[in-house]
Amino acid sequence: MKFELGKKRYNDYPTFFKTLFEERVQKLSIDGGFTCPNRDGSKGVGGCSFCNNESFNPDYCRAVRGITEQIDEGIRFFARKYKGQRYLAYFQAYSNTYAPLDVLKLRYEEALAHPMISGLVIGTRPDVVSEEVLDYLEELARRYYVCVEYGVESVNDTVLRQVNRGHDFAVAEQAIRATAGRGITIGAHLIFGLPGESRESMLEGAIRLCELPIQVLKLHQLQIVKGTRLAEQYLENPALFRLYTLDEYLDFVVEVIERIRSDVYLERFVNQSPPEYLIAPQWGIKNFEFTAKLDKRLEELDTWQGRLKDKS
Ligand code: SF4
Repeated sequence: MKFELGKKRYNDYPTFFKTLFEERVQKLSIDGGFTCPNRDGSKGVGGCSFCNNESFNPDYCRAVRGITEQIDEGIRFFARKYKGQRYLAYFQAYSNTYAPLDVLKLRYEEALAHPMISGLVIGTRPDVVSEEVLDYLEELARRYYVCVEYGVESVNDTVLRQVNRGHDFAVAEQAIRATAGRGITIGAHLIFGLPGESRESMLEGAIRLCELPIQVLKLHQLQIVKGTRLAEQYLENPALFRLYTLDEYLDFVVEVIERIRSDVYLERFVNQSPPEYLIAPQWGIKNFEFTAKLDKRLEELDTWQGRLKDKS
């Protein structure tokens, strides 16, 4: 892709939605009441070391407010800013395919029955997506927008072991390939800066992940968050961590953009944990502010997505 004047120098997420929907769409985070197999012993115990989902109930589902009620509340919040837009139900908390199929159907279909909902975004671990679930999602995807967002986090197995992820990269690769060709949008998430990663391994990882049939890539910097095992390790021995400055991270994201497949859409680049939880890094920047800096840097360097793909 050579960028067009006046347009972004990378495929941004709003443009992705414009290719799919006539109206503006907004992801609406809802808690489907699922739990996590990396905490209840079915895949692992203790959870990923960077995760601060403290509360945990070993049953498949936690008690949460009704899905319709959560959607209505979310719409009330967003409708103040944007009138007449549609919404995607974003099952975000924990692992949203980790339940028997009949439970998944109940949760997803309650969301889809809402008149303002146009589709689903389902965040999950790659090791809890069965063929049966994919067949069902494939069927749903004939009628609605359906995206499965896989937490890949790193392509480096040593790093994945160190953070107690409970699966290796081959599992993520397998899940992505099994999801492809079914009309389901595939998203993947990477964290940059996990202990044991180098700049080179992270860059190589992003390139490798984008060689798989994903459509959407979501990135963010490692954040050391209170209440996690990573926070304990960091406070004991900060030298184990290579935390990037905002400018270093910005340059790194530029390198990633230049080298990945030019048709992948980039959803976000930074996360911002609430200040009361965040130990480091203290960048104090929101995703839209980072995006503005990124646009400026890409322009200064006169570079764009995929410019150096296959050249390094
Ligand atoms: S990051 Fe996801 S998979 Fe890991 S412990 Fe937290 S909820 Fe579970």
